[in-house]
Amino acid sequence: MYTTVKQQKSWFQEGHTKSYAFRKEQLLKMKKMLTTFEKPILNALKFDMNKSEYEAYASEIAFLKSEIDHHVKQLKTWMQPTKVKTPLTHTGSKNFIRKEPYGTVLVIAPWNYPVQLALAPVIGAIAAGNTVIIKPSELTPTVSWVLKKMIEQYFPPHYIAVIEGDKEVTQGLLEQPLDYIFFTGSVPVGKIVMEKASKQLIPVTLELGGKSPTIVHKDANIDLAAKRIVWGKFTNAGQTCIAPDYLYVHHEVKADLIRAMKKYIHQFYGEDPLNNEEYTKIVNQTHFERVSSYLDSGTVVVGGSLDESKHKIAPTILDQVSWEDQVMKDEIFGPVLPVLTYHDLDEAIEKINSRPKPLALYYFGENEVEQQRILNSISFGGGCINDTLYHIINPHLPFGGVGESGMGSYHGRRSFDTFTHEKSITKQTTRFDQNFRYPGSQLGLAVLKKFFG
Ligand code: NAD
Repeated sequence: MYTTVKQQKSWFQEGHTKSYAFRKEQLLKMKKMLTTFEKPILNALKFDMNKSEYEAYASEIAFLKSEIDHHVKQLKTWMQPTKVKTPLTHTGSKNFIRKEPYGTVLVIAPWNYPVQLALAPVIGAIAAGNTVIIKPSELTPTVSWVLKKMIEQYFPPHYIAVIEGDKEVTQGLLEQPLDYIFFTGSVPVGKIVMEKASKQLIPVTLELGGKSPTIVHKDANIDLAAKRIVWGKFTNAGQTCIAPDYLYVHHEVKADLIRAMKKYIHQFYGEDPLNNEEYTKIVNQTHFERVSSYLDSGTVVVGGSLDESKHKIAPTILDQVSWEDQVMKDEIFGPVLPVLTYHDLDEAIEKINSRPKPLALYYFGENEVEQQRILNSISFGGGCINDTLYHIINPHLPFGGVGESGMGSYHGRRSFDTFTHEKSITKQTTRFDQNFRYPGSQLGLAVLKKFFG
């Protein structure tokens, strides 16, 4: 067993992590850590991904601080045992659910929001009273280094530790006797994680990806739809798990929508996005080549320019794309937006339902009946009507996928619940005893028939 895992497990067993006071103090410490390390975090995000200060602060630091505030405010309530009803069969007893931490949790993070996605699960895990090992992504090494430094400065390794490394390191960690695994990343690696976890029956949350459709119906407010889609797609240069992956638009409004999106791309990123200092780059050469290759699909109608030396790809819209093109086979995870058209909403629903269940879906259209039709007939992790990405920043909405886009969810209360085992207890009275359950009881059968029909 790895020394860190061993130390964390025995420290957990000693009970240090369980009190309300301890958990609250650690959450506040984490908030302080984010303030102290704000500059190094922003610098590392700039260095590894060229994230602008605004984007980096909003999507990584502010997000985490607001999650911490929400947890601190609610923690006492969440930790309370939940009383449940006492059926007649249990007369005299008290019945309740105790909230128990799992123990030692492993959090495996990807590179696209490397601070937020490494630490947001940790907030839930420490609120729930666990110890945590964080395995950040090797693709954003400067951020991983800062993560390690700041965690080391604020928390002892027998409580929270960062273990850096590549897939071999992750696979080694997955062999450890952990109590919970929280994985954020791609579908293929998610399958490896689940397979490894199954060997020891370790519970998992899998926050995965996939192709998230954005439907624009003919009654949508086209200008506003274009603005919100451009924002959702090109934030972080499209390297967002819930970014609109492709546009599925009613044929009557396609031309207007593309025209409006072009206007907003220019407004947000300028005439020359490749030389816009605020525009995020693609994380590395492999991903740059992968995303660039999608420009061979369809016809470029906006953008299409590349700068290999800077790993930048301009916000790009592709028209004349077919479902058979490579860009429609893989998750794009970059600033390339293919546009497909439909004539009838049922046709769009059927097509989306023939593919794996997406992590997110966005629908733009004013008619409530059609909005309901989309919600009723397509299964997806979560999403928005008439917006993109915005559901993820409401702490009252659990965030997670379904089917191939993942299992389990977190954020806000759901983070606490994810890392908490619900222990069901019947506290029986000894003042009297009901005999009907015992063998030989004359009343037993009659009572059972009365209760259970
Ligand atoms: P990834 O699956 O390649 O890597 C994620 C983590 O797994 C990294 O820490 C990496 O070191 C580790 N890893 C990689 N290969 C491994 C292997 N063979 N065995 C064990 N561990 C391995 O994902 P990524 O490229 O870092 O991130 C992009 C993917 O993550 C996209 O598919 C995206 O949609 C998804 N994602 C999902 C969410 C979400 O919240 N649902 C958020 C962000 C990203």
